[in-house]
Amino acid sequence: MREGPRDECGVFGLYAPGHEVSRLSYFALYALQHRGQESAGIAAADRNGHIITRRELGLVNQVFNENDLRTLAGELAIGHVRYSTTGSNAWENSQPVQRSEGTNGSRREVALAHNGNLINAVQLHNEMLEAGVTFSSTSDSEIIAALIATHPAERVEDAIAEVMPRLRGAFSTVVMTKDRVLAFRDPHGLRPLSIGALADDGTGESDGETRYCVASESCAFDIIGAKLLRDVQPGELVTLGEDGLSSRMVVPGGRRAFCVFEYIYFARPDSRMNDQVLQVARGRMGEILWKEAPVEADLVIAVPDSGNPAARGLARAAGLPQDDGFVKNRYVARTFIQPGQELRKHGLRLKFNPLPEVIAGKRLVVVDDSIVRGNTTRQIVQMLRDAGAAEVHLRISAPPIKHPCHYGIDMSTREEMIAHGRTAAGVAAELGCDSLHYLSLEGVYEAVRGERATHCDACFSGEYPLSGSDDAAGKYSLEEDQILPLVKA
Ligand code: SF4
Repeated sequence: MREGPRDECGVFGLYAPGHEVSRLSYFALYALQHRGQESAGIAAADRNGHIITRRELGLVNQVFNENDLRTLAGELAIGHVRYSTTGSNAWENSQPVQRSEGTNGSRREVALAHNGNLINAVQLHNEMLEAGVTFSSTSDSEIIAALIATHPAERVEDAIAEVMPRLRGAFSTVVMTKDRVLAFRDPHGLRPLSIGALADDGTGESDGETRYCVASESCAFDIIGAKLLRDVQPGELVTLGEDGLSSRMVVPGGRRAFCVFEYIYFARPDSRMNDQVLQVARGRMGEILWKEAPVEADLVIAVPDSGNPAARGLARAAGLPQDDGFVKNRYVARTFIQPGQELRKHGLRLKFNPLPEVIAGKRLVVVDDSIVRGNTTRQIVQMLRDAGAAEVHLRISAPPIKHPCHYGIDMSTREEMIAHGRTAAGVAAELGCDSLHYLSLEGVYEAVRGERATHCDACFSGEYPLSGSDDAAGKYSLEEDQILPLVKA
């Protein structure tokens, strides 16, 4: 299996009376599956009823069947796919999180789906425990849900507006009550969140009104026939309900810090972010890679699939032929049976099998999107040499990763990162390739047509946009054995 940075989570929400909201959510989550493969969930509600949630460990198509979608009937829904960034991969940590607080007269019921990572999760968790609030999970997302559900403000919009300034870190969040969907984004806009418009489905079942939805990526809108309208602005709270779409700027003026790695690797190539189609931006990364480090070569190959767009761009710029150097098995899931001792040395071949007929005797330019620890890349280089490659020149469409992410991406520790404390030449020697070039940070921003001042690139540069980020607790910070001593203290 590849050991690149792990995608974080994907969120979706819509308010659409007359539409099959759970089915639309299912397909939207299907499009967002690349953002998290550990668990999936949908919460739905009828305006006069209660919120019903179905969540389970597994892929979207393993978690839901026809019967589930029929049970999740309603007029509004939210959904989530998860890769764990705070809290382990347990059912309790799957989402949407549902909280019901208060007495019968003033009960607030919410479901919540969150993409990101709070850097003050332990502090907030302790404060809430001291106030007598209990938790059923170890994820930071339940902290946000509990803060909103227990807030005394009468309107949920006001509760969220009070809670948002207390949260530090990355939070692209979707919340539902029984009659509306609310979406809000941290003041830095670290993780993506966009608004789409769902047209009348033409079946005569819907009321002909334009309805709105929100999603981590625009590819979720494409699959359900919705149109991308705009991003949820950093610090903004939007409400989708009977009156359509309304907006409120809650925390204006934060230092913008959109994750530059979304363009390079995390998001699907057919998604649009900041007016860029990522497939096109990744092609430009390949072109710039070539301009920065040309080399005498015969053939360009990609490490599939994420290296494909940059490899095409590089081949175009170089005027070199491009071919498939590997066949990829697309059915290797994240949780697969380990190969065991006998097959371990062939482990990577479960996923990539090189094609000697294409490779043998060639001076190769091999394009990949990133290197974290380097174990997989080292095996790839060796496989290419074993298949008869004359030379292996690695070209990486990201700068060297040297620092961990505290905003929702699971990477290795600094010490495990192959580029930490090494030059590119030192990394090349470790990997056994003939040459190695990483795309410069300037090259990344040129390719994405973006400005450094409005993005986060901390995993490359070490310059964290939020103070105190490097002291943030890790993925398991809320697990019982770590939190109890803090609570007792
Ligand atoms: S540290 Fe890296 S992965 Fe994390 S938000 Fe910043 S650019 Fe993205």
